[in-house]
Amino acid sequence: MPIATTNPATGQVLKTYDAMSDEQIDAAIERADLAYRQLRDTTIAQRARWLTAAADLLDAERDETARLMTTEMGKTFAAAKAEVTKCATACRFYAAKAPEMLADEPADAAAVKAKRAYVRYQPIGPVLAVMPWNFPLWQVMRFAAPALMAGNTGLLKHASNVPQTALYLEDVFRRAGFPEGAFTTLLVGSDAVERVLTDPRVRAATLTGSEPAGRSIAEIAGREIKKTVLELGGSDPFVVMPSADLDRAAEVATTARCQNNGQSCIAAKRFIVHTDVFDAFAEKFAARMSALRVGDPMDENTDVGPLASERGRDEVHDQVTDAVNQGATVLCGGEKPASDGWFYPPTVVTDLRPEMRMWGEEVFGPVAGLYRVGSYDEAIEVANGTSFGLGSNAWTTDPAEQERFAVDLDAGNVFVNGMTTSYPELPFGGVKNSGYGRELSALGMREFCNTKTVWIGEGEAGAGAGAHAE
Ligand code: NAP
Repeated sequence: MPIATTNPATGQVLKTYDAMSDEQIDAAIERADLAYRQLRDTTIAQRARWLTAAADLLDAERDETARLMTTEMGKTFAAAKAEVTKCATACRFYAAKAPEMLADEPADAAAVKAKRAYVRYQPIGPVLAVMPWNFPLWQVMRFAAPALMAGNTGLLKHASNVPQTALYLEDVFRRAGFPEGAFTTLLVGSDAVERVLTDPRVRAATLTGSEPAGRSIAEIAGREIKKTVLELGGSDPFVVMPSADLDRAAEVATTARCQNNGQSCIAAKRFIVHTDVFDAFAEKFAARMSALRVGDPMDENTDVGPLASERGRDEVHDQVTDAVNQGATVLCGGEKPASDGWFYPPTVVTDLRPEMRMWGEEVFGPVAGLYRVGSYDEAIEVANGTSFGLGSNAWTTDPAEQERFAVDLDAGNVFVNGMTTSYPELPFGGVKNSGYGRELSALGMREFCNTKTVWIGEGEAGAGAGAHAE
């Protein structure tokens, strides 16, 4: 893929970049390694000051940054502004919580025959982050904020269609005060990932993206014995049971499917509805989906902007066409507009069957699959019947059923009577082919720490636990 900014609302190429040479990549890794040695010896309080300064810059530059994101990948300006604010919030969260998250954890010294025993969390070095374009700032920040706070450094290989947002991120961390090389954007294609990951100075990798990209990174990292966190695709179920508030469920279903122009890993994609309320829900949902306004993402009246690439838009349309050709029914949408830009209308498709692509594949656009089920057990069978396991939603006011869904849905998260969302306070990640490892919360920070066991016997004069905190 060329490294370029192309406006998805017009198809116009606005700026192109040459990929970095091997020498430039090696020099960037060297700087990241030197910066790591510096960063690990700074105090948590100092790193928190830098991360807070980054949050201040993000807040101050919100509109300009949001416009850049909208121009590069087509999300609505309103959504882009909210994303910038969310990144600033996450920086402040980790700045405030890091002392607690990285504090030494005392163990039962007597049980392990020690004078003192504890667990210490230490940084591991430069980490490669391979990131997608769909939340071009947030996906990176949820790795970068905890990683930098822990004392690691970051090497970002961002998606090739968001180079300006990637360069902006490097600039923010530099201006916030982090040492040169603490966070570096590598303007490279995916063919350069192996060179970076096999460099002995690079200690681990995190990838958010598609399943094939995840497999490729995991293979390389496996050979190199390097830790990976993989956040991959999803086809989240959204189950509606008879006791649910149907108006609220249909309203949230519409947002959950069409947020970010339908291009979110945790978008609800398969709407699994009990037969007792199927027709009523389908009518309300299709009415709301067709009422959404598709158009210029900079216009504040627009609900759904263009998809990020022509290839992505055509893929979504091929999936819908495949279902229709095999007998599926389109309740709304389903037509590819002839206008410029890579727009696709909010679409609801029902009468799906397992042989159709939409049944088992992730649909990365504003297209909902609607499934009729006759019981709780059938709902769980359909919900869990894909290779993915990222997020999940269940709508029911029955407390016993709520608890059953929490146990039975095979996913990294279960949201009952609400929409899957990421919060810095809660772990985020998947099971099955949606990946492994967790981002956010203390778990996300510790994924790239050396969880070091410290055992001090009688006669030792070790330093006090907690001494590294300040
Ligand atoms: P993608 O093609 O996998 O791209 C993601 C990143 O991986 C880009 O930087 C891309 O670089 C790079 N890449 C692609 N193939 C690679 C390879 N073989 N080796 C190394 N790097 C490679 O994904 P996408 O289509 O842009 O993004 C959408 C996918 O991401 C969806 O499946 C979505 O569900 C998933 N996603 C998951 C989460 C989550 O948290 N679980 C969040 C957001 C998105 P280039 O741009 O240069 O190709």
